[in-house]
Amino acid sequence: MTKEFDPFDTPEMFDDYEEHNVSEHHHKLTTRLAKPGEDIIKSLTPEKAHLLHMAVGASGETGELLDAIKKHVIYNQELNVENVIEEIGDALFYLQGICNTLNIDMALCKIHNIVKLEKRYGETYSDEAAKNRVDKE
Ligand SMILES: [Mg+2]
Repeated sequence: MTKEFDPFDTPEMFDDYEEHNVSEHHHKLTTRLAKPGEDIIKSLTPEKAHLLHMAVGASGETGELLDAIKKHVIYNQELNVENVIEEIGDALFYLQGICNTLNIDMALCKIHNIVKLEKRYGETYSDEAAKNRVDKE
């Protein structure tokens, strides 16, 4: 049986975390553990740069899509379907760019997604199936 996560149970070294400078500790940890940019640049190739460009672009465009949906759901603005279509198209542009670079047919991604989700859920969604994720066994 796994121990249940308790967010208020901190390791002993942080027992006095109000005294401990957590921000400074975290700042130093980040500086120590983040891969140096110089090392990333040294291993960069035009293909890797392109893949990064496409992945960053896809993420940015899905963020724009999320913002369009947020305006509708959270702020009760009329859904701007034209904008939704634009952002989906923008995201697809970048995803297609990744497929092109890796010689992946976008249809193959859809096929694998169909197989995964039909295995996971069968015909209908359920919270139980989402939790169990039988396709991951
Ligand atoms: Mg856009």
